[in-house]
Amino acid sequence: MTVSSRTQVGIVGAGPAGLLLSYLLALRGIDSIVVENRSRAYCEARQRAGLLETGTVELLRDIGLGMRMDAEGLEHGGIYLQFEGERHHLDFRDLTGGRWVTIYAQTEVVKDLIQARLAAGAMIEFEVRDTEVAELDTDQPVLRFTDAAGARHEVTCDVIAGCDGFHGICRDSLPAGLVTIAERLYPYSWLGILATVPPSTDELIYARHDDGFALHTMRSPQVSRLYLQVPADEEIERWPDDRIWSELQHRLTVPGWDLKEGPITEKAISPMRSFVASPMRHRRLFLAGDAAHIVPPTGAKGLNLAIADVTALATALTQLLRDGNAELAEAYSDTCLGRVWRATHFSWWMTSMLHVDPRSDQFGAQLQLAQLRYVISSRAAATTLAENYTGYYPLSWPLT
Ligand SMILES: Cc1cc2nc3c(=O)[nH]c(=O)nc-3n(C[C@H](O)[C@H](O)[C@H](O)COP(=O)(O)OP(=O)(O)OC[C@H]3O[C@@H](n4cnc5c(N)ncnc54)[C@H](O)[C@@H]3O)c2cc1C
Repeated sequence: MTVSSRTQVGIVGAGPAGLLLSYLLALRGIDSIVVENRSRAYCEARQRAGLLETGTVELLRDIGLGMRMDAEGLEHGGIYLQFEGERHHLDFRDLTGGRWVTIYAQTEVVKDLIQARLAAGAMIEFEVRDTEVAELDTDQPVLRFTDAAGARHEVTCDVIAGCDGFHGICRDSLPAGLVTIAERLYPYSWLGILATVPPSTDELIYARHDDGFALHTMRSPQVSRLYLQVPADEEIERWPDDRIWSELQHRLTVPGWDLKEGPITEKAISPMRSFVASPMRHRRLFLAGDAAHIVPPTGAKGLNLAIADVTALATALTQLLRDGNAELAEAYSDTCLGRVWRATHFSWWMTSMLHVDPRSDQFGAQLQLAQLRYVISSRAAATTLAENYTGYYPLSWPLT
C-alpha cells in the first residue's frame, strides 16, 4: 500500500543544501519534507568541508544558526602560500577591506541544521530507499520513496528540490537533451586525514612542492586536517600512517617550524573534478549544490556554493509559492550559474597553480612558480585571490 500526502516543497537529500533550504523555507512559512537515504548519524559524521566564506557566516548568523559556530568556529584573516621552501602570508582583511573566513566543519553545520529542523517539528525521513521524482512536466511533481519501516510514500508537491549531491537521482531525472555538462577531471587526487593533534599553524598552509601539493588545515583547536596530492588511481592501502606523516613533513617543512603528529582517526582519497550541469531547473524541479556542480576542494567553495544556491532558491520559491510570481524562479539557474562559474574558475586556478601535473614539464612548473611569485608580490594579484577566497559574490537574503 502507498501512503499519499502533499507538501509545498519536496526536498531530496539532507546534506547542507537540502537541510538549509528546508530551514529557510520554514522561516517564510513554507512547508517541506526532506528525504535522505542515509542515517542521521551518518549525515552528521561524514567528513567533508570545513571552511565558510564571510557571506556564509553572516547568513547563518542572520537566520539564527550562528550560536555554536560563533562559540566554536575559528576565524581566520588569511592563509599561507608556500613554495620553493618559503612560506608567505596573505592578509585577507587588509586586502579585502575586512573580509575573513571561518573554520567550522560541515559536520557541525549539518548537526546544527538537523537539530533546529527536528526541534521545529520538521519532516526529515532518514534511511529512505528507492527515491523517485516524477510528473516533472506538470505543476504538481511527485516525490516517491520507501521509508525506513518499509512503507511506500507518494508526496504531491508544488516544487521538488534536488539537493541529492553528485551521485543523486534528480539530475538524471531531467528530460534527455536538456542538460549540458561541462567537466574537467584532474590527473591527481587528495589523500585527506583527520588527526587528533592541535594544528601546527594558526591559518591554513597551501604548499606547492616539486613532489606534490600539501595542505594543512584544521577542524578545531584539538583536531588537525591535512591533505596530500596523490596519483589519481592511488589506493589508500599504500599509505600507512607513518608514510603519510613522513610525506607531510617532507612537503610542508620550512626552517624553524615543526609539524606536530598525532593519531590519525580517518583517512580517505577523493578524486578531483570540476563539473557544471546547466540549466539547474526544469519547470518545478530545481537542482542545488553538488547535484548541479562540483569543484575541486582547493578553493574551499563546494559547501559555500551549496549554501548560496539554496539561499537564492528559498527566495525564488517564496516569491513563487507565496506571491504567485515566477520571476525569480525563472531566473534561478542563471542567477546561480554566474556565481558557480566564478567559483569554478577560482577553484581550477588554485588547483592548477598548486598541484604538480604528472603530464607537465619544466615549462609548466615555471609558469606555476611565476604565478605564485606574482601573487605574493603584487597587491592586485593577492587581492584577486583574497576576494575570491572570502567570497566574491555577496549573499542576498531579504528580511521578509
Ligand atoms: C574531501 C572534501 C573536502 C571538501 N572541502 C570543502 C571546503 O573546505 N569548503 C567547501 O565549501 N566545500 C568543500 N567540499 C565540498 C562540500 O563538502 C560539498 O560541496 C557539500 O557537501 C555539498 O552539499 P550538498 O548538500 O549539495 O550535497 P551533499 O553534502 O552531497 O548532500 C547530498 C545528500 O543527498 C543524499 N542523497 C543522495 N542520493 C539520494 C537519494 N536518491 N535519495 C535521498 N537522498 C539522497 C546524500 O546521502 C547526501 O546526504 C569538500 C568535499 C570533499 C569531498
